[in-house]
Amino acid sequence: MESLLRAMQELVVANRILATEGVCDAFGHASIRHPENPDRYVMARSRSPGVITIDDLMEYALDGDPIDQRDRAMYAERHIHGGVYEGRPDVHAVIHNHSHAVIPFGVTGVQLQPVLHMGSLAGKDVPVWDIRDHFGDTHMLVTNMDQGRDLARGLGDGRVALMRGHGCVVAGKSIKEAVMIAVYLEINARLQLQSLQLGTPTYLSPGEIECGMQQFVGELAIDRAWEYWAIRAGCE
Ligand code: MN
Repeated sequence: MESLLRAMQELVVANRILATEGVCDAFGHASIRHPENPDRYVMARSRSPGVITIDDLMEYALDGDPIDQRDRAMYAERHIHGGVYEGRPDVHAVIHNHSHAVIPFGVTGVQLQPVLHMGSLAGKDVPVWDIRDHFGDTHMLVTNMDQGRDLARGLGDGRVALMRGHGCVVAGKSIKEAVMIAVYLEINARLQLQSLQLGTPTYLSPGEIECGMQQFVGELAIDRAWEYWAIRAGCE
């Protein structure tokens, strides 16, 4: 129970950070795999990440059914999380967001690539998943497990998949790692857009990306960023 409480407190901080750093606005959500029961995940009721508290957190089965709903409204797109947890035992945190600078790379065919060392966190060859490929014309939201599983297949064994005309999904080994990836995904996208306006960017090489993917999820980097972002978000 103690590990669950600690994990939930961390998830609240993660939500506040994602809002403060411009990754989530009114929409978007973050979850963790239940630390004691891998067949469940923990996520807030339907509320903006910028205002959630520990009392908003709920437990879900991987198929998206709530364990104890108590009339609380649920995120329509919770199946993003279940789909990824079901297909990826190595993943312990999932973030879905509509962070603005990332959107152009999902709709133009211009590949999102690292121009910044920290941008390597998203990995090589970030895929773009298109809901229309298998589901035709929709409101673009991932609202059932078929769609969640299809998105998880699009993500493959990577850390990030863009969602055409919508946003992205980020998968991490921990919530701190997922937050790190999501924040720098947005920053790198902004810098890549700026670089493309000036000329032809020199992107990080595949080998540099490999190195960065390990280096910047080390404890030293993550704890330093987490403390800074948590204080900026009014936590701690
Ligand atoms: Mn969405």
